Amino acid sequence: MLLFSRRVSRVLAAVSVHSKFATPPGGIKMSTKAHSDSQEATKKLRDAGLLLSRALIGDKWCEAFDGRTITVSNPATGEFLADVPFMGRKETELAITVANEAFPVWSQKTTAERSKLLRNWFDLLIEHKEELGRLMTLEQGKPLKEAIGEIVYAAGFVELYAEEAKRIYGEIIPAATHDKRLIVLRQPVGVVGAITPWNFPLAMITRKVAPALAAGCTIIVKPSEFTPLSAVAAAKLALQAGIPPGVLNIVIGDAPQIGGALLESTKVRKITFTGSTQVGKKLMEGSAATVKKVSLELGGNAPCIIFDDANIEVAVRGALAAKYRNSGQTCVCINRILVQDGIYEEFAKAFAQAVSGLHVGNGLEEGVTQGPLINPAAVAKVVSHVEDAVAKGARVLVGGKTHSLGRTFYEPTVLADTTPDMKIFCEEVFGPVAPLFRFKDEKEAVRLANDTHFGLASYVFTENISRAWRVAEALEYGMVGLNEGLISTEVAPFGGVKQSGLGREGSKYGLDEYLEMKYVCFGNMASS
Ligand code: NAP
Repeated sequence: MLLFSRRVSRVLAAVSVHSKFATPPGGIKMSTKAHSDSQEATKKLRDAGLLLSRALIGDKWCEAFDGRTITVSNPATGEFLADVPFMGRKETELAITVANEAFPVWSQKTTAERSKLLRNWFDLLIEHKEELGRLMTLEQGKPLKEAIGEIVYAAGFVELYAEEAKRIYGEIIPAATHDKRLIVLRQPVGVVGAITPWNFPLAMITRKVAPALAAGCTIIVKPSEFTPLSAVAAAKLALQAGIPPGVLNIVIGDAPQIGGALLESTKVRKITFTGSTQVGKKLMEGSAATVKKVSLELGGNAPCIIFDDANIEVAVRGALAAKYRNSGQTCVCINRILVQDGIYEEFAKAFAQAVSGLHVGNGLEEGVTQGPLINPAAVAKVVSHVEDAVAKGARVLVGGKTHSLGRTFYEPTVLADTTPDMKIFCEEVFGPVAPLFRFKDEKEAVRLANDTHFGLASYVFTENISRAWRVAEALEYGMVGLNEGLISTEVAPFGGVKQSGLGREGSKYGLDEYLEMKYVCFGNMASS
């Protein structure tokens, strides 16, 4: 059902526009300038060899065995970008075999050798950040500046794990008897299956691939069907960097079929997933049959608590950054802004004013800060959340409707007087809507913030250091931003608690997810 609705949206999106302000099926409007910007960007990518429409298995750029394809198109304009293979079980099984064959050679390289190759890959990603950024804007929609920022962030994981590879230390444990020596080795898990979402088409991939490769694992990546082109371009650069064929494989296509093949294989020893909690639960369940190691980076319902004693300017800036990045389509985006009574009206006014200054449009255009949503289904979800809130008494301070640009665009929106009985309190809106809830005291703020099954990111704005510490401790979340809206960095552990996931990505801890500990006991050491 999920796949069906996605494919219907895909067909609706695959339209091309030629007149000055044409309105093709689905209601999208596009200027001739936007059309020629996209055409020019696509041509430049083709010339640079970075617009590839094949999957990668070993050293082969492959089509689906039965020739099936799926169209990738630009969410801002609906224009066709590429037809990519729609693969399934058989192609995935081949990729698993290839990754399994590559594993002994790759895992036995020295960490210095693996580090060097990852470093080469990092250099190439940075060298091509402009082209890769343009490709990302074309397939995902985010503003070009944000897209280039994601390439640098994504490359940061590759650089970090090129360095961390050299620090995969073992341990010597003091034994309780004279005749024993106890050692812990850390060894790669084996072949990894990685499934990633569309909202960060490259960073969610390098966050998995870089530590896996640093540890000595080989990997099969299934990117989202909406954004496979960034993944394939990065894989091409990995080969160019000298990473041996078979170490990194990309399969594109039927998610349940590909996921099923990865789950059922006894050769795949680990599943790493970023995406919705709903799919994450299925993968966790499916991993049980072969007892795979599992890491899950799932959905969120981030609260942002603004206390009476907050610096309003800092709070507005922080909330704006944490809410509207990627048009509200990030797992750490604020979902609920909780504002204390005494500051509520003042904050609402300043925040609404800041939001009304956001510039919506095609991400390739200069000055655009808000791109489209990924597809019409995402817009429909936002519409239903706003309608539900308004029907239950919310006031629209800014926005509140689909944008005049059409089909995939929604106006940056602020809702006041929202209450916990509204859908937007419990579900991830994944769009540019900020609801403002009211609270009386610290106890109520923490209770409201924790009143969710999710526990990924949270934000607190206060100038009171004791309160900041207390509340940070009380929040049932994997991450807390204190007077800060942008918390993601490759050097810190990223991840959630409760139904937001298992395990951590980034930092030195991210490497542990791809390593097994082996305990070796030397006996009879006392006798000469
Ligand atoms: P999604 O629907 O769960 O899809 C994520 C990936 O799973 C895609 O590659 C998708 O493939 C694949 N998939 C879907 N059904 C599958 C199945 N039955 N078996 C195997 N794979 C399957 O999530 P999304 O809509 O792309 O991403 C948005 C969600 O991701 C949000 O909930 C967001 O909070 C979460 N997210 C979390 C983090 C984090 O670090 N915690 C980061 C980013 C996003 P297709 O796209 O090809 O269908």
